[in-house]
Amino acid sequence: MTETVSYRLDGQVGMITGAANGIGRDLALGLAEAGADVVIADLPTQAAAAEETAAGARAHGRRALVVPTDVTQVATIEAAVAGAVREFGRLDFLVNNAGINIRKPILEYTEAEWDTLVAVNLKGVFFCTQIAARQMAAQGGGRIVSMASQLAVVALHDRSIYAITKAAVAHMAKTFALELGPQRVRVNAVGPTFVSTPMTTSMFTSQAFIDQNLPRIPSGRFGTTTDVLGAVRFLLSPAADLINGQLLLVDGGYTIW
Ligand code: NAD
Repeated sequence: MTETVSYRLDGQVGMITGAANGIGRDLALGLAEAGADVVIADLPTQAAAAEETAAGARAHGRRALVVPTDVTQVATIEAAVAGAVREFGRLDFLVNNAGINIRKPILEYTEAEWDTLVAVNLKGVFFCTQIAARQMAAQGGGRIVSMASQLAVVALHDRSIYAITKAAVAHMAKTFALELGPQRVRVNAVGPTFVSTPMTTSMFTSQAFIDQNLPRIPSGRFGTTTDVLGAVRFLLSPAADLINGQLLLVDGGYTIW
């Protein structure tokens, strides 16, 4: 035995995009519970929900800041990172959680729907990572975790563009890890199975969806935000110091057969 393994994030400052609702909110709260000060980056329309997330983080005794951010707009990402650094002096980690879906058959998608999905799920992840990593590199290091999906590795009807963007997010972890590793910035991705959130309400209220998909999960249940938090917190922690460029699936085995 040489060193102690730590899963704590005490004294760290981290930004979570899309943290007003759903998985992102619970990540912000859970990462604050793990000791981090959190920066809640979500759309200006979500300001009230973002403030609620911030209040929940403060209840864990941590500092929290809301920065109105549209991840499709590079200028607002730059302002968000600058605001975080102005408030807290540094940025130790980023969770690229903001994401959207539009479900329909391939033959029905419009060009505008493609542009919208790619702007949030792909362009947003690229530029949030780039801008945060510039700050991290200047500080001497940092960690980034991006939210992919089990659909990064398998296909599913009516989710083609989403799945394509999530496969790209998983691959981005590799391309970023390669270039940013020497600057001590680690980049990984997490691939959850279905989790009940505002994004998936229409799925979880459909018995047909449940009957079709639950039997595909060997673990016998859908995912929770706590399952996702476990993976994200691990990847951000000192315990994962040598894990870089990976996709960690949190899917109960959905993708193994
Ligand atoms: P959600 O819709 O409940 O929450 C998404 C959040 O992102 C919202 O607060 C929204 O305001 C924010 N957001 C959307 N567009 C944004 C933009 N342009 N700029 C900033 N913020 C923006 O979704 P969720 O289910 O919590 O999903 C979170 C992430 O997890 C997404 O990347 C999603 O693809 C991924 N994911 C979800 C599931 C699931 O089953 N819920 C499964 C696998 C992966």
